[in-house]
Amino acid sequence: MNSSQASNLLAFPGVLPKKRAYSTQKALERTRPSHAEVGQLLRNQLQTTLDVADLLEIFFSTSHRLLHYQGLSFRHAGQHLDISHGHVDGNFRIDYHLELENQFLGVLSLHNSTGLDEHALSSFESLTPALIFPLRNALKYHEVLHASLHDPLTGVRNRSGMTELLERDLQLSRRAGSSLSVLMVDIDHFKMINDRFGHAGGDAALIAVAQLLKDQLRNMDAVFRYGGEEFLLVLPNTDMPYLQQVAERLRKSVENLAVVHDGKRIKLSVSFGAAVMRPNESQHDLLQRADDALYQAKKQGRNRIGVAG
Ligand code: GH3
Ligand code: MG
Ligand code: MG
Repeated sequence: MNSSQASNLLAFPGVLPKKRAYSTQKALERTRPSHAEVGQLLRNQLQTTLDVADLLEIFFSTSHRLLHYQGLSFRHAGQHLDISHGHVDGNFRIDYHLELENQFLGVLSLHNSTGLDEHALSSFESLTPALIFPLRNALKYHEVLHASLHDPLTGVRNRSGMTELLERDLQLSRRAGSSLSVLMVDIDHFKMINDRFGHAGGDAALIAVAQLLKDQLRNMDAVFRYGGEEFLLVLPNTDMPYLQQVAERLRKSVENLAVVHDGKRIKLSVSFGAAVMRPNESQHDLLQRADDALYQAKKQGRNRIGVAG
């Protein structure tokens, strides 16, 4: 009821309450759609996007027209997807293993604070088939997109989307007035590693270093394979003292890394170029300063951190 209805009621107390009760009932009937209507609405809406997170959000909000539950989550480890909408920390959870023609499409989970009755669950289950084909298409799209943006050897991002991503982070940091740092990481004497352990040994070392970088950084940080044995790390909300701390921790971890290939232990070290974004500095200039700092670290003997001036 809005404020104009409220004042109408006050002005005509004898007449309107009855009329209002009638129209409220009608409105209620109109806003409580039938099962078939929700199913149709859902099928229409699910055709509007190829984004997996958007599909799940549509499913979550549309299914609420039929039944109430607190949260929806979706996981597909092979496709690096872990998405949730609403509250997913309640006591009740039911998992649906989604499949189409023997193809695994992921695990969809319904979450609630308390258990739901059979009627509610069967309402939910009657809607899930509408998700299957749009989800299959969105997963295919996600797979192609993911492959185009990631390095197949190490699984970290490649340079394709790097410029856009770094530019977005730079702008966000400028607007928020927060700091943003980059770290260039280059494996020392990598040619010698290839020579001693073969190309496959070199590949094993690259995979291990990339994994270590991913494991040790925060979710908000990004790891790119910048060149052959060179990685670029982008760290939002990071100033120079913290950046040096992070770099030193990574340096030591690589030194202690145990990469075993063909029964032989590969010893590794990395050098760093560390730079913090200056006000209004371009991406190109920031990367150039990090690269210069890396060059200094190499010149001074490797296995160390060069700090950009
Ligand atoms: P520095 O300490 O100065 O960095 O010396 P470096 O030998 O590490 O550097 P350099 O740039 O001279 O050599 C890099 C080598 O990395 C050359 C190239 O063959 C090798 N490389 C590039 N990509 C790959 C790859 O995907 N796998 C393997 N195994 N080697 C690669
Ligand atoms: Mg190198
Ligand atoms: Mg190099």
